[in-house]
Amino acid sequence: MAAVQSILKPNKALPIQSNKELSGAHWAKRFAGSNSTRDLSGTFRHAVDDFIYAMTEAGIDVVVDATYRPTKRLYLMHWSWRIVNDGTDLAKIPAMAGVDIEWEHPTKAESIKAAADLVAALSIKRLRTRPALKSQHNLGLAIDMAISWQGTVVVKDAKGRLVKIDTTPRTGMNRQLIAIGASYCVKKYYGGSKDVPHWSNNGH
Ligand SMILES: [Zn+2]
Repeated sequence: MAAVQSILKPNKALPIQSNKELSGAHWAKRFAGSNSTRDLSGTFRHAVDDFIYAMTEAGIDVVVDATYRPTKRLYLMHWSWRIVNDGTDLAKIPAMAGVDIEWEHPTKAESIKAAADLVAALSIKRLRTRPALKSQHNLGLAIDMAISWQGTVVVKDAKGRLVKIDTTPRTGMNRQLIAIGASYCVKKYYGGSKDVPHWSNNGH
């Protein structure tokens, strides 16, 4: 196509065409993920539903932030996080088919600002580990949830045993709660406090 145009307009330099759109917070609205357990797969979905039911019955407050997440969203999460936290060289970021994002703004400062805005819009500002390009989320095998309660709670595990939780923290990082989750085959993230809300089928 460029060759044809150069024959038709031999003396006019063609501008470099790019279909890419500059990075920024607005990209977080694209390739949206789900926060419904309906979008989890097979047996893991049932395990999660049972675990959440048991927690809710015990008076625990559970807010699901994310379940299924498309790989294109993981690409946005991974590279925006790395620009901000790893100082990744913008020129070395690989393209992804179907994600026409331009990470390089006219200046480096603008590029980093735009990436930071996207990191905030993607709700990964507090994440202390780099988001993976592939994760259990894009297989429908992971869930991010904010968990909290007051005082002492009694939670039924998968075997029907009632477990009194009188330890702290009163969050998803509580060891007793993590053991109860495991009884339902919902495993807490292996990396501890690096990814507080994350649970999955295998701890990854
Ligand atoms: Zn997660």
